Amino acid sequence: MDRPDGRKKDELRPVSIERDFIKTADGSVLITVGDTKVICTAKVEDKVPPFLRGQDKGWVTAEYSMIPSSTQIRKSRDRGRSSIDGRSVEIQRLIGRALRSVIDLEKLGERTIWVDCDVIQADGGTRTASITGAYVALRDAINKLIESGDLAENPISSPVAAVSVGVPAESDEALLDLCYLEDSGAQVDMNVVMNGNDEIIEIQGTGEERPFGIDELNELLDLARKGIKELHQVQENA
Ligand code: UDP
Repeated sequence: MDRPDGRKKDELRPVSIERDFIKTADGSVLITVGDTKVICTAKVEDKVPPFLRGQDKGWVTAEYSMIPSSTQIRKSRDRGRSSIDGRSVEIQRLIGRALRSVIDLEKLGERTIWVDCDVIQADGGTRTASITGAYVALRDAINKLIESGDLAENPISSPVAAVSVGVPAESDEALLDLCYLEDSGAQVDMNVVMNGNDEIIEIQGTGEERPFGIDELNELLDLARKGIKELHQVQENA
């Protein structure tokens, strides 16, 4: 089956990561994955949330949002915590967990790193692009703390990146990195987060239109592993 953009089944969309995209952030990137574009920033704050105070450890947290014109149909803004939509909450918690999985919070000391992911153009895979870009922004913020002498030791243990995989509506073929057209009617839809040691941090997998078997799951995970290896390379190059 031909993909809408002519890619092979195991081919990522073109990916680029532009660093230092926002001057006022401690780390920032524009990540582009095909037509999906996300600005990821990291900002350091010298305090921690109340539940961590006095414990000599830090915190990394994420927020995610889509700007109104990032989608085909205008997406209303999230306004404050009371009206933030459930999808955004789910995604920002995923991003936060992914980043915390590769950082030693004790080595970070009593400070919070806020990672903000703002989707400026959405064409599928915005949460996975956010994670892949956010890691680079986080690493830049950490490097700044090390350079200024505020941190003695690097708290990051590994890179982390994410990709989507799935089975589209039209065929039973497993595909890497779905664009919106492929994602919107997918039979099976999965987001995979992995570290630099080929280990899984999180899998969000759904049999949207039908259940799927373990063999199919393994095939999807193999595709994700291949894609994430390439994404780690893009992060390293950036
Ligand atoms: N989307 C949209 N409006 C919305 C939510 C999603 O147009 O309110 C589109 C957008 O292109 C997004 C895609 O649907 O990338 C897939 O959304 P999903 O919730 O699966 O998350 P994503 O794949 O972006 O992580």
